Amino acid sequence: ARETQIEAAKLTALGRLTGGIAHDFNNMLTAVLGNLELARMTKEPGEQDKLMSEAERSARRGARLTRELLALSGRSHLEIAPRRPEGLVAAAVAVLDLPEGARHSTRVIVAPDLPAVRADAALVAEALAGLMRNACEAMPDGGEIEISARLSDALDAPTVTFGVRDHGGGIAPDLRPHLFEPYFTTKQVGAGSGLGLPMARGVAEQLQGGIEIESTPGEGTEVLMHLPAA
Ligand code: ADP
Repeated sequence: ARETQIEAAKLTALGRLTGGIAHDFNNMLTAVLGNLELARMTKEPGEQDKLMSEAERSARRGARLTRELLALSGRSHLEIAPRRPEGLVAAAVAVLDLPEGARHSTRVIVAPDLPAVRADAALVAEALAGLMRNACEAMPDGGEIEISARLSDALDAPTVTFGVRDHGGGIAPDLRPHLFEPYFTTKQVGAGSGLGLPMARGVAEQLQGGIEIESTPGEGTEVLMHLPAA
């Protein structure tokens, strides 16, 4: 009976997860199709441009969701090669792509002479950008987020530790056990996918690394991604 209960609970969780994903995809596709349809109808070139960009933005969100799901299910096809930490940090900042004149800025701090790490460059950049997105969202009035890379001994092997730090509100202790659950989010419907942290952990673990969160309510948060040196 107990096993049946556990199986039933797993199925409920799976149902919630797939239901959430289907719902998100549906929203994104609806936005893509809706904007394309409006773009076809409008006669005004400026308006058409705007609608096309909007469609493109939604399609990109859909593509990102797919990558996140693949990464956290461990199904990504990894292209692992030795990568320089400064290159990964720069790629993450490029993926984040803060608009000109945004309320948030990034400060990059990379220790000199770091060893290369074994990484899939695109996935690590995507994961770090996700952490930076969280850092921005933790500071709704704007502010500086810091992305850093330094040598550490967090893993058994020589390690490069990437850090994403914000000066937001921090994370309440009672949320901590849930942070890595897929689809756990405290953000508004549509704002958070609840996949950023699980995805970052999935990527780090597939690369024999790990994720750690240091957070003080009222002071801010630093999320650490440890990757073994190549
Ligand atoms: P999402 O950001 O889409 O909600 P995540 O998996 O990235 O999904 O994060 C899960 C939750 O963890 C967030 O909803 C938020 O409550 C909390 N969180 C993550 N990063 C931070 C941060 N830098 N500061 C405060 N809370 C955070």
